Amino acid sequence: MEKDPVCGMQVNPASAAGKSEYQGKTYYFCNAGCKRKFDQNPQQYVDR
Ligand SMILES: [Zn+2]
Repeated sequence: MEKDPVCGMQVNPASAAGKSEYQGKTYYFCNAGCKRKFDQNPQQYVDR
């Protein structure tokens, strides 16, 4: 399981609604809305 960085839900990569790559890491999302928020401002959701 991977953590959806936007809402904090645990997401199964095999059934994730979306994914994005940022700074060489892949992030998975529970729905398209979370992916859209992440894509708009990934820095806000990524642990530095
Ligand atoms: Zn989510």
